[in-house]
Amino acid sequence: MPDATSPSGVDRYIAAARTAAQRRTADLEAIRRCRFDTIAVHGLYTMGEGLDFNQGSIIEPIYLSSSQAYRDSDEMEAALSYQIPTWCYSRIANPSLYYLENTLALLEGYGFDGEASCCATASGMAAIHTATEPFLAVDPKKPDAKLNFVSTCQVYGGTYQLFSIRRMQERGIDCRWVTNLTDLDEWASKIDENTRFLYGELPSNPGQAFFDLAAVASLAHRHEIPLIVDSTVATPALLRPLCHGADIVVQSVTKSMTTSGFGISGAVIARKNLTSRFGSDEMKADFAGYLKQLPNRDMGPNLSPVNAILSLNDIRTLRSKMDLFSRSSMEIALWLQEQPAIQQVDYLGLPGHPLHELASRYLYLVDSQHDAQYGEPVNRYGHLMSLRVKGGAAPTRRVFDAMQRIWRATDLGRIKSVATIPAISTHSQQGEEARCMADVPPNLIRLCVGGEHPDDIIADLDQALRAVDGKVQVAVPASFSAGGASREAPGEG
Ligand SMILES: *Cc1c(COP(=O)(O)O)cnc(C)c1O
Repeated sequence: MPDATSPSGVDRYIAAARTAAQRRTADLEAIRRCRFDTIAVHGLYTMGEGLDFNQGSIIEPIYLSSSQAYRDSDEMEAALSYQIPTWCYSRIANPSLYYLENTLALLEGYGFDGEASCCATASGMAAIHTATEPFLAVDPKKPDAKLNFVSTCQVYGGTYQLFSIRRMQERGIDCRWVTNLTDLDEWASKIDENTRFLYGELPSNPGQAFFDLAAVASLAHRHEIPLIVDSTVATPALLRPLCHGADIVVQSVTKSMTTSGFGISGAVIARKNLTSRFGSDEMKADFAGYLKQLPNRDMGPNLSPVNAILSLNDIRTLRSKMDLFSRSSMEIALWLQEQPAIQQVDYLGLPGHPLHELASRYLYLVDSQHDAQYGEPVNRYGHLMSLRVKGGAAPTRRVFDAMQRIWRATDLGRIKSVATIPAISTHSQQGEEARCMADVPPNLIRLCVGGEHPDDIIADLDQALRAVDGKVQVAVPASFSAGGASREAPGEG
């Protein structure tokens, strides 16, 4: 029985939550002092957490339950008025997502001297949509203002469709494309009093465009607007944009973070107290927390708990995988460059790449200076590259069709090497002009190198390049395809 001095009613639950919060704060402080790999392996799921809440399970649990039960009306009241942590209903929050979100916030915030938080989403596109949408609300003081935002023109195909069709064509929100990303004056010339944010993808998929992150972040902040960065290709193992001034990072967790290829997921990671002349104080104080609690509660684009734990499981080894993939990619890019059938190889790691120097200022293997093998900061450039085959579309397709070990698929970030021709897949819906602007010609093959031994990938490319003048006949089996993709949707990946 509680004595006369113990809190009663709702307060009883608030007091208990305070004690639990103290342990979690201590856990958070302890893991923050650890290196990247340790954070990736453990996140906030400590032994205390497992013993107190999850029957001692050493692996984070998958909570498939739609909702949480409460002991009595007091606990329900405390929970649903957000006075105690709760997950109440899985569209709003879920314990499995909690562990993923904290790990991602810690990894993107690694080395950043501020706090970050994360909102996981059902896909990378859901992350891009939810990260940008709150800035595009009508200002009640200027209801007739024509809103705009500024974006790098080399963006993922789905992002291009979102910005140009959903936003510009359907809603009249102006997306102003920056074409020369290293020209800060061009960025600046597109900003006016109705610009709500700057958006950039780096390195971009597939073109590996790059820009001076710190300079563009300062430009944004001089105009009191946020910089939003799609950092999918680099992952936090190679680049953490928050450390260079970005306000919000979006990730297609589907890609290099979930190398196994089990499902689709995304995340928005934001610094606390971000810069924006537009929006409420509540929104700016904890943007990702705000997304979770309000807009995403109301719109519902949230991740499934199964995908959250599958992603989390892959992320534990992110750093060593990105190191391996990057080293193999470098070897393969150097080999490709020497092949007579190849017109051009684009890989940021190649010293001849026009953006090599700029990218080398930003892309480092995290903690390489603490690694016994390296002992100093080492550049790593990831596993995305592109090759252009001499002679146009037809020989390019022959080389592509002859690949045997490398999978032909519109995907990237996999433990298995994968290749695609963006002009007929991911970028097929944009039209010739937009493909030209994004530099996606028909003889470009995008290659994403996996965890195989690089000798075997080189052997596959070698035999495929010999098909450049011949014709490979592909046997076509009777196949079944579940439903067609809609005409407007870009081929994914
Ligand atoms: C794939 C991709 C996306 C979209 O992510 P989904 O998880 O497929 O929705 C966004 N940005 C980049 C750079 C991508 O490669």
